[in-house]
Order: sequence, then C-alpha cells, then structure tokens
Amino acid sequence: MQVKRAFKYRFYPSDAQAAELSRTFGCVRKVYNMALAARTEAWARQKRVNYNATSAMLTAWKKTEELAYLNEVSSVPLQQALRHLQGAFSNFFAKRSKYPRFKSKRKSRGSAEYTRSAFTFRDGALILAKMNDPLDIVWSRPLPEGTVPTTVTVSRDAAGRWFVSLRCDDPSIKPLPATDSAVGIDVGLDHLLTLSTGEKIANPRHERRDRARLAKAQRELAKKTKGSNNCANARCKAAKVHARIADRRRDMLHQLTTRLVRENQTLVIEDLTVRNMVKNHTLARAISDASWWEFRSLLEYKAAWYGREVVVVDRFFPSSKLCSACGTLQDKMPLNVRTWTCDCGTSHDRDVNAAINLKAAGLAVTVCGAGVRPQRRKPGGQSATKQKTPRREP
Ligand SMILES: [Zn+2]
Repeated sequence: MQVKRAFKYRFYPSDAQAAELSRTFGCVRKVYNMALAARTEAWARQKRVNYNATSAMLTAWKKTEELAYLNEVSSVPLQQALRHLQGAFSNFFAKRSKYPRFKSKRKSRGSAEYTRSAFTFRDGALILAKMNDPLDIVWSRPLPEGTVPTTVTVSRDAAGRWFVSLRCDDPSIKPLPATDSAVGIDVGLDHLLTLSTGEKIANPRHERRDRARLAKAQRELAKKTKGSNNCANARCKAAKVHARIADRRRDMLHQLTTRLVRENQTLVIEDLTVRNMVKNHTLARAISDASWWEFRSLLEYKAAWYGREVVVVDRFFPSSKLCSACGTLQDKMPLNVRTWTCDCGTSHDRDVNAAINLKAAGLAVTVCGAGVRPQRRKPGGQSATKQKTPRREP
C-alpha cells in the first residue's frame, strides 16, 4: 500500500514571488468563476458542460484582448482550477455536496495548484513555473527520504501567511500490529476530549485568553465600515487570533489522533449532528465544532493508514442520558449537569459516562458486523452505523 500524504510548510516569498502568486491566485479565481458561470448557464438550459468543454473555453478566453492577461501566469494552476470545478460538480451530481459556489476575493483563501510539469524540485529547492528562485520554505519537518512531490499547492490564509503543501508518497506508513483495545471518545466544551478510560484531555493552553481576544477583535470588526482600510486591518487582526487558536488545536489534535490510533484497534466517536440539535451559537461551540470535524478527518485517515477502525455512532444515540452501569435511561440531562447519580447507585461524570456508552455502542456494531444494526431502545432509540474509513490525505 502506497500512501499519499500532504506535507504543509510555511514559506516567505520575495516581493516578486508574492506579486506573481497574487496575480496567479487572481487568475485562478477568474477562470474558476467564469467556468462556473458557463456551466451554470448551461445547467439552466438542462445541458451539461464537461471539463474538456471548459478547457476549450479557457483557450478561447486567452485569445481575447480583455482576458489576455491570463497568458501571463502559468497555465497549469488555471487547468487545475477547471479540474477542481469538475470535482465539485461530480460531488454535486453524486449528492455529496451542494452546488458549487463562486470564489470571492474577500472570502476565499487564495490558492494555486502546480503539477509536475510546472515546478522543479531538487535537493530541497522548489522552483515554481514563471519564477527564477526557489521558495524560502521553513522545513519544520523532513519530507520522507527520496520522495519527490507529485503536486504542489501554494496558498495564503486570511492572516496573510503563505503556505506550500507538497503531496508525496510516504513509504514509511505501514499497518500496525492488531490490538484488541477499543476506546470511546466524547468531544466537549469543558474539555477537548473525554475518553472512556476516564482520561480527560484539556483544551490547548492559552486558549481561554486567545478566545477572549478573538471575541474582542470580532466586536471591533463589527463596528468598522465595510470596505474601509480600518475594516481590512481589523479583519486581519481577527484572522491572526483565529489562526493561532486553530494552529494550537491542530497540533494537539495531530498528536492525540496519532496516539489514539496507535493504542486502539477500534475508535468510537459520535456523529456531530446531535450537537447541532442543541442550538448554542457561542464562540466556544463554534471552535469545538470546527475541531470535531478536523479530529474526525485526522482520525479516519490515520486509521486507514494503520489498519484501524473508526465507528461513528449515529445521532439518536442518547450517550449522555444512559447509565453505563445499569442501562437505565434518564428522562432529562440538562447541559449544566456535570455529575449525576443513577438510581442504581452509580455516580457518573457526565462526559466519561458518555464516552463509555459510545464505546459499548461502537463495539456492538463491530460484533454485529456491517449491515446488522443493534436493536433500538426506547425512548430515544439507539443505533450506530459502521463507518467505512475512506482513505484520505491531510
Ligand atoms: Zn444506573
């Protein structure tokens, strides 16, 4: 099994490189949006425009006077934008995602993808098409020995930081020896994660303070006139705090998922949709939800790498209302109740109890095998779905 993997690094472009990349991002966005408009217009006439047709359009656009500037940047990222659009439509037709949206200059992060013909990589020096000098990359971790990237994606985030992501084969990833341990994992607000073993993993250090800063930055931003310079500065400031929170969480989630996947054969998590049913639009909730998706995606691709199984328990499972000792279902379990005692005499920590229930439900699914669902309980019902872990790259 050859695993493809993306390695992402920060880099510092020269002024000339930054200008070339900004120009390329602009052209990528323009081509993507024009192709999307053409496909949307055809869609309204119940016609389909495929990738080849948009590729022919691009050739024609480049020959017109007003779009001649598209010739000034590398043609590869423009072609890749059309491929991404094709992918977005495939997902839409397969009902995996919503109708593709236009990329706005303000909201979408700029990015450009280069394939093999549009870059050279030698002795750690990466030179992109239309550039003379290698990018000044901060090699925060080594690339696997002897590998050459197949695709290079350059991007700039809302905080103005530049990143390059290199997709490579990683021959060092091999399935781990099987183990019979399993773990249930509950994601919460007070703690980042609670495990069925009783272990609680705290939120990243300094996050409380950063969150307060982010809330303040967002309030400042709300006061500014849209489109003004002050607004752009305030947005950048908020984006920087946001990026810091997200980076700390990501580092932590990487370490945690690697550890959890190494230690356990079966990892049981809850479907997030249950959390969305509890309307709670706080900042803490938004951050917690975002990291849940990241956690799940990290867990799934690492499980696929190492031969482990992720089981996602579905949203009607009453993990926090069920006594993990006797199986009695409580009528109510308000969010502010952190510890409780069941009629059977067992006292529970709310999150640990939920994690233990998740583990039990997940194991029931793996024992039953795919296609067999555990019997529903009343009231509320209990069921879980066996989740195939798709092979994904970070
Ligand atoms: Zn009980």
